[in-house]
Amino acid sequence: MRFLVISDIHANWYALEAVLADAAGAFDRIVCCGDLVGYNPHPARVIECIRQHCDSVIRGNHDKGVSGVDSLEWFNEVARAAALWTAANLESAELDYLRGLPKGPLQLDYFELCHGAPRDEDEYITNAREAAPSFAHLQLPLAFFGHTHLQGGFFSKHGRIGTVPQVSQRERELVIALEPDIVYMVNPGAVGQPRDGDPRAAYAIFDSDQKLVSLRRVDYPIQKTAEDIRKAGLPGVLSFRLFQGL
Ligand code: ZN
Repeated sequence: MRFLVISDIHANWYALEAVLADAAGAFDRIVCCGDLVGYNPHPARVIECIRQHCDSVIRGNHDKGVSGVDSLEWFNEVARAAALWTAANLESAELDYLRGLPKGPLQLDYFELCHGAPRDEDEYITNAREAAPSFAHLQLPLAFFGHTHLQGGFFSKHGRIGTVPQVSQRERELVIALEPDIVYMVNPGAVGQPRDGDPRAAYAIFDSDQKLVSLRRVDYPIQKTAEDIRKAGLPGVLSFRLFQGL
């Protein structure tokens, strides 16, 4: 089975569209680590697409904040403004869908899905030191997570923690052959708001037969999302950061 693994779409339709086109033919199922909405101007389109095509999806902190599952008190000013805009621009059925998304970790046949970390869906794992305690909470030797918008991840080999790199800016793909005595936590990167210095949309393909994870990047028309951010009246910094990948 081949899985398209996506995370942190954040209502960026043009980024999601580019990922689906780039990955076409390379996957059988779609799974998502959460944060469908927030920051960008296409929440309804993204929700509709994920509802129709995604086989397994868990909630992210923005899905909770927008739909009222959680308060917005932990959000910064820009994230809060975007969350309020999003809530005001969704139908009640769309908000119900967000509210009903399951909490991670979600155990599937070959891997687990987390938004932030296996022990806490809202925890940020940005380096090996922060990743280390998470491995004890995994039920399977492979987990996908998001939340940080940083492609790559971490592995544990007999208790030693190592780092999985992101795709180089000169490449489109990085293939990782999974080894049997290693436990992996892989972040596919953000579809809709990368923060690892590479503005291209990020995603991963996992082939459970071949035991391969491919981290990928694809260009998308950032200008079109930026134009819609402007038209929606969302904070201008949200389009600036898309061009920077920060
Ligand atoms: Zn996010």
